[in-house]
Amino acid sequence: MAEGKFATSISCMDGRIQIPINNWIKENFPVDFVDTITEPGVDKQVSSNGDLESMKSKVGISINKHKSSLIAVSGHYDCAGNPVSNDEHIEHIKKGSEIIKSWNFGVTVVGLWVNKNWQVEKIV
Ligand SMILES: [Zn+2]
Repeated sequence: MAEGKFATSISCMDGRIQIPINNWIKENFPVDFVDTITEPGVDKQVSSNGDLESMKSKVGISINKHKSSLIAVSGHYDCAGNPVSNDEHIEHIKKGSEIIKSWNFGVTVVGLWVNKNWQVEKIV
């Protein structure tokens, strides 16, 4: 296995967004690999007060075993799992970023929006 630095992406399962998010993270942070945890409409999930223990433990594996230095949480245009307006997605991304920061993994947390042209915009 090649040596390298890791980041962690919490994203929707949507197949249109994985490559743009992966590329954006590698272009903007000094990382080689992006561990990806996916759920449908994950921005809604991480911004709600529901049970996030399973998500937190998955992120913990990436942080502790791969020494990931960054968590990127994202939402995207035309999301089947979270069919709300773009403005609501942005709010979910902001709130989700705050909740993930509160997990205190001690790494950078960014919130990303994948727009209708499948371009990544940094929200947080
Ligand atoms: Zn989606």
